[in-house]
Amino acid sequence: AYPIDVEAIRADFPVLDRNVGGDVTTPGEGEDDTEPLVYLDNAATSQTPKAVVDSIVDYYYSYNANVHRGIHQLSQEASVAYEEAHDTVADFIGADGREEIIFTKNTTEAMNLVAYAWGLAELGEGDSVVTTQMEHHASLVTWQQICKRTGAELRFIEIDDEGRLDMEHAAELIDDSTEMVSLVHISNALGTINPVEKITEMAHEVDAYSFVDGAQSVPTRPVDVGEIDADFLAFSSHKMLGPTGIGVLYGKEHLLESMQPYLYGGDMIRKVTYEDSTWEDLPWKFEAGTPSIAQAIALDAAIEYLEDIGMANVQAHEELLAEYAYDQLNRYDDVTIYGPPGDDRGGLVGFNVDGVHAHDLSSILNDFAVAIRAGDHCTQPLHDTLGAAASARASFYVYNTREEIDALVEAVDDARQLFA
Ligand code: PMP
Repeated sequence: AYPIDVEAIRADFPVLDRNVGGDVTTPGEGEDDTEPLVYLDNAATSQTPKAVVDSIVDYYYSYNANVHRGIHQLSQEASVAYEEAHDTVADFIGADGREEIIFTKNTTEAMNLVAYAWGLAELGEGDSVVTTQMEHHASLVTWQQICKRTGAELRFIEIDDEGRLDMEHAAELIDDSTEMVSLVHISNALGTINPVEKITEMAHEVDAYSFVDGAQSVPTRPVDVGEIDADFLAFSSHKMLGPTGIGVLYGKEHLLESMQPYLYGGDMIRKVTYEDSTWEDLPWKFEAGTPSIAQAIALDAAIEYLEDIGMANVQAHEELLAEYAYDQLNRYDDVTIYGPPGDDRGGLVGFNVDGVHAHDLSSILNDFAVAIRAGDHCTQPLHDTLGAAASARASFYVYNTREEIDALVEAVDDARQLFA
């Protein structure tokens, strides 16, 4: 049995009825050798349930209008729905209110917002930013470049053989020079769940801020900013059943209040003269220009869908599938799995098969209609540390089943034998 009603959930996702794959190099004569899609690339992006698509259709068919600009009814309806989406997100992550929720394009933009608005203003020679060896490029490249521009030092907490943070090293690196500790909550390459509460506490002890990259955690488990006490948290709608084009930056109100805007333009101002301007209240101060209105409303619908399942149940389902996949793949001596053991990881498994390039593996799996990711997963330095040019990654979500993992493992086994 599953912690959630997987069959009922699957019925909400039309794409899961598709057949894909087939041996495209030697197609059977008129035969259909495609198979039902096994979608295991959820850490890259998740699929979209009907309720979310319906919310987009409803917006465009019924009340499409620009927000905050019109007195007319459609604009008012769109504005209310857009603003309420902030409240929904605030509730979802335990924030104090919509003032703390800024809609961005994605996690990457949320990172850049803080790096530019806070980092450029606050960092300088003699300061340090502490991050980890397992950061996504969204965080790593952003802090790297901001540190280069400000003269701050960027420090990397090392990982151990199981892909966990070396906490002694963390304690050494986080010191009086540290202004920001920025770390990924769940690694998108290793599946490691980082002790973000502990690290945030360590940051606060030296009067530094903490930035949690929640791109892989917020979609897959209950995340409460109050419990973590993080100063900033970022995540993307498209990894949690919502559309692309919208992400979230959470920030503590007093911090956002103290920061200068990152983008200037319409909607974010209160009063403009030829000489100077003043800024709108939070969160609008950081939302310049026409925002992603339909996407915000659809993110609201996605959160409602997830809350109907219950985030604790989503987490239980992820854990069950991650452990099952880990155990199944771990039976093969020539399969290397990265990251911690199966019973202590997020809902993804990164691995390599000896003698088979991850891209070839992914291509063979595609013939079997199994969609996984292959590459460096936007973690090139981490892959250098692992001594692997690339890895394969299967990642799970609410609609995945054990049978789909069996299909993955069978296809991996076929690939092993093909290259043996
Ligand atoms: N951080 C992590 C841990 C991720 O997995 C991702 C997406 N792969 C990102 C950041 C970036 O997300 P986005 O591309 O939506 O900005």
